[in-house]
Amino acid sequence: MIPLSLAEVAEAVAGRLTPDATGVVTGKVTVDSRTVAPGDLFVAVPGERVDGADFLAAAAAAGAVAALSTRPDDALPCVVVDEPVAALGRLAAEVHTRLVAGGLTTLGITGSSGKTSTKDLLGQVLAAAGPTVSPPGSYNNDIGLPLTVLDADATTRFLVLEMGSRGPGHIARLCGIARPRIGVVLNVGSAHLGEFGSPEGTAAAKGELVEALPADGTAVLNADDARVLGMRPRTRARVLTTGLADGADVRAADVTLDDAGRARFTLTVGEEHHPVRLQVVGAHQVANALSATAAALAAGMAPADVAAALSAAGPRSRWRMEVTRRADGVTVVNDAYNANPESMRAALAALTGLSGQRRVAVLGAMGELGPGADAEHERLGEDAVAAGVDLVVAVGPDAVGIARGAFRAGAREGEGAVHVPDRAAAREMLMEALVPGDVVLVKASRSYGLEVLAADLLDAG
Ligand code: ATP
Ligand code: MG
Repeated sequence: MIPLSLAEVAEAVAGRLTPDATGVVTGKVTVDSRTVAPGDLFVAVPGERVDGADFLAAAAAAGAVAALSTRPDDALPCVVVDEPVAALGRLAAEVHTRLVAGGLTTLGITGSSGKTSTKDLLGQVLAAAGPTVSPPGSYNNDIGLPLTVLDADATTRFLVLEMGSRGPGHIARLCGIARPRIGVVLNVGSAHLGEFGSPEGTAAAKGELVEALPADGTAVLNADDARVLGMRPRTRARVLTTGLADGADVRAADVTLDDAGRARFTLTVGEEHHPVRLQVVGAHQVANALSATAAALAAGMAPADVAAALSAAGPRSRWRMEVTRRADGVTVVNDAYNANPESMRAALAALTGLSGQRRVAVLGAMGELGPGADAEHERLGEDAVAAGVDLVVAVGPDAVGIARGAFRAGAREGEGAVHVPDRAAAREMLMEALVPGDVVLVKASRSYGLEVLAADLLDAG
């Protein structure tokens, strides 16, 4: 964060200062009063369950310099605004403008799957070239993105932003807060299809990122995804394509997986070829690595340096393909952060690529799929069996279609597939069933909380 006086904050957000409001924000900006440290600005966000304005006294006690709030409070100086979240965006926009004037390069990443994974790779790659802000986790919305921008300071050279889309206009709005010079679109899948109506609707919304790029910027497009490549006419920026296909500007050749599921490949950029050994798990990480590479090249890095940094980049954000071997020889793959049809397939492919005796997929439902949800769950169950999963455990009422699909594909009830009513039943069943050599994937949409089950399974070893 660059230090800002309360007068500067008020001006940036068109807010009203309370009479006692003098001082300078020297710490960070936060929306969680429990994380407030001396010098911070506390943004009191009105939520559905809790109202941040109820925590002004707590923020003051923890040392907040001031609050951005819908109402003044005796506890601390306030910048009063009607909409704190919009004000947070305006504050970030002002800070971003100043940072860009000071030489900051901003990179935005969107797509249906792999945003956080790619952001984590790109953040580690760019860190080899200069001070980089790219926090772990999935700060991709109207609150998380401005908070990430505000993490940057005058020493930051690269700012890597994850941009999620919850509907038309959302990414355009995020780009209005922090206009990226380099934009990456990973893929267009069925995540949140309920909100977008169709993959074309999703593509229209994700493409807002490349529309926001300046003429001297770079759009990184995945040539292996036709809907992404189709965004080319929507940008003024130079386009760099990535993919396995010949003709892509940044390519991967000779892709193999080691027995821990990590990809090795030859990174090809023009006439240059460099070996890469990823430390992160799953063949899907090759596409993410190519996108990160193209973005880093656009930011001025040399291919050899990118290849070396990619090969050193580890997992950064929790609950994404976290592979842990229990002392008794059972391996647990915690990929419970989220799920949609494409990411489920990517995780199943990674599971079957891991060495072990028996592959077990413990799967909960995929949320927000809209009217086609039942059919999608059944197809997933079928595909899990076809991919070589030995035992499918479908968890919870919404996941019953997964078991149905697995049975249809020939899995025998109890042996090849089973449906259990909830997490507790899954836990009980797996405690009995798992034997050394088993490799167990745990995955579902965020709302089903299967990371708890993954943690229980690890504790049990
Ligand atoms: P969210 O929208 O929840 O923020 P995200 O786009 O940030 O998701 P990640 O958290 O990076 O996605 O990855 C979620 C899961 O998606 C991973 O654990 C993995 O199973 C899968 N995944 C990651 N990259 C890809 C990819 N390129 N293609 C398909 N699936 C992927
Ligand atoms: Mg994410």
